[in-house]
Amino acid sequence: MAERKNFFDTRVEFLKGIGPQKAVILNKELNIFTYGDLIQYYPFRYEDRTRFYAIEEVTDSMPHVQVKGRLKFWEMVGEGHKSRLVAYLTDGTGEMELVWFQGAHWLSKSLKRDLDYVVFGKPSSFMGKPNIAHPELEPLDGENAKGGYLQPVYNLTEKLRRKFLDSKTLGKMLRQLLDIALPHVRETLPADLLAQHRLLSKPEALLHVHFPKDQAWLHAAIGRLKFEELFYNQLKLIKQKLLRRVDYAGQVFKTIPTLNTFYKEHLTFDLTNAQKRVIREIYADVTSGKQMNRLLQGDVGSGKTIVAFITMLMATDNGAQACLMAPTEILTDQHYTGLREYADVLGIGIAKLTGSTKTKQRRAIAEQLLNGELKIVVGTHALLEENVQFNNLGLCVIDEQHRFGVAQRAKLWNKNPDVYPHILVMTATPIPRTLAMTLYGDLDVSVIDELPAGRKPIKTVHRYDSHRQRVFGFMKEEIQKGRQVYVVYPLIEESEKVDFKYLTDGYESIVRAFPEYYISIVHGRMKSGDKEYEMQRFQRRETQIMVATTVIEVGVNVPNASVMVVESAERFGLAQLHQLRGRVGRGAEQSYCILMTDYKLGKESRARIETLVRTNDGFEIADADLNLRGPGDLAGTQQSGVLDLLIADLAKDGDILKTAREAAQKMLEEDPDLSSLKNTPVYEHIQSLRKEESNWARIS
Ligand code: ADP
Ligand code: MG
Repeated sequence: MAERKNFFDTRVEFLKGIGPQKAVILNKELNIFTYGDLIQYYPFRYEDRTRFYAIEEVTDSMPHVQVKGRLKFWEMVGEGHKSRLVAYLTDGTGEMELVWFQGAHWLSKSLKRDLDYVVFGKPSSFMGKPNIAHPELEPLDGENAKGGYLQPVYNLTEKLRRKFLDSKTLGKMLRQLLDIALPHVRETLPADLLAQHRLLSKPEALLHVHFPKDQAWLHAAIGRLKFEELFYNQLKLIKQKLLRRVDYAGQVFKTIPTLNTFYKEHLTFDLTNAQKRVIREIYADVTSGKQMNRLLQGDVGSGKTIVAFITMLMATDNGAQACLMAPTEILTDQHYTGLREYADVLGIGIAKLTGSTKTKQRRAIAEQLLNGELKIVVGTHALLEENVQFNNLGLCVIDEQHRFGVAQRAKLWNKNPDVYPHILVMTATPIPRTLAMTLYGDLDVSVIDELPAGRKPIKTVHRYDSHRQRVFGFMKEEIQKGRQVYVVYPLIEESEKVDFKYLTDGYESIVRAFPEYYISIVHGRMKSGDKEYEMQRFQRRETQIMVATTVIEVGVNVPNASVMVVESAERFGLAQLHQLRGRVGRGAEQSYCILMTDYKLGKESRARIETLVRTNDGFEIADADLNLRGPGDLAGTQQSGVLDLLIADLAKDGDILKTAREAAQKMLEEDPDLSSLKNTPVYEHIQSLRKEESNWARIS
């Protein structure tokens, strides 16, 4: 075993054909130090060399083709910087032009007349005749004449290429390495898993990921490696969760008299089935005797707040206190106003604590929290401060969690030194399920996937800037019906002068176009008091149009607002646009979202806009977002190491993730210590991964 381990730790300079100089470049450019690193440097695509095409078959819709033929003749064409080398290749079925703009002179000297060549490249056509610009060209020999393989292409840097380290040389190194390495490769998955999921063995997978015989082998090799990666990823997360389960006790909130009264006498609407299901999940948690750590996902307007309040009643009914933390003053205000209505009729003490709470009041709140008089507190980060101490904090609700880090969550935990409070994290940014499983492997996830009955889906349209007058006309009609309108400008960087001018110009043109109405403006450069004042005016319907930046993005609730106009919508991300759209559609009226863009649009921007026009479903949008941008860009994912995946892609491998997770779960249920004989490969692989991690920790 020790011998095997050492083999993959061998430094690459000891591989035949690499040597110290090339090794240094591989170290620097690709982070490849050892045999193990090199073998795991997987190709990022493959060129299909499985067959040769006849020239007459070649069309310009083919991504790449391989042909073989004879060079009859070549010539320099054109003058000056337009000059190029054109060579004519024939294979008996037709003629093809090969064109070089660079290195033409040098190349023309090395070509050989009447020699057979293998040619590979992206075909296009000119006047019905096929041609390939800058093709790969090799004299036909015993090796390349056979075809029948997929050629690996590796991600390389310019520096590597300048040192003649291209995909081909790297491929040769890997051939060398695989020849000697395969006998040392250990299987990392137990035999029953391999059989059940029809997975290739590890040596087979490594061989065929670099040198696949055909598409089927390639698919099987990649599938096996992805499964392995996700399996170990999930095994780790589930293990952590099981450990936590054992470690932390939680308060039991069994009796719920006030909550029952609330249901019977004060709740003015029927909960949706999704809300009921989530409440049952939460109740099961808080009566289990263990600490709850639950993520509650629900699209904008799905009714998360009431679920939070009901959970708070579970706490207060059992002599515990609850807090709700929100990321901004405006949101805190809104939650406080909403919750106080309910709390007041039930006679439950509630207070608000933010950065702008006066010292005297702050002291009073702190005192009442400590002696237990105050049952519920709603606040911003101010809640985290040292001097905010509770009599018996039993529940923390965190709204819009992307803005709070793990460290802050931990601070809340410690507000009850005897028993950690239950934690409910709410987010309106739907995270694709595959990602949630991986990102929040340490949280249980509940989803409200249903909107309250009677909501009309928001109608979303895309309009070009040239239609602005028509859009103004529509806004006018809606305002005449008594509705209110948001107009949002991108001010991604609040300090950006250009954006700021764009916002103020926009505001002025709206003021000119709507002389008979009152117009609010809110942006990040304003003092928070002024912002709040403007928001409140809009909320009280004293103004009809709210011109704003994304400061109004999260959580703000003005049910009478029915139109959301987003200027330069192409500059926003999908998730952000969906959040913005969620500001309307909160009342009984039909609501509209109008996405304004320039006539010229990039492909990705167009895809984003089309997705929003097509669907209102936050989860579908989150999936599309993941596909368009990749998981690394999603909020909050960068810091979490769980996304350092070598080969699996969370955007595309949801199915494999699901199977791998289930397999990991089952294994840990049956064999929590991985001590059974059949799971030995897993146990040993984890040991070696640990060792690797600690090695890295020492290095970096
Ligand atoms: P979000 O999930 O975006 O935080 P809110 O909790 O703010 O949504 O709820 C949006 C609105 O829907 C609120 O006015 C709330 O009172 C209302 N609401 C919540 N649940 C229901 C329901 N089951 N039926 C009708 N209205 C509901
Ligand atoms: Mg909310």
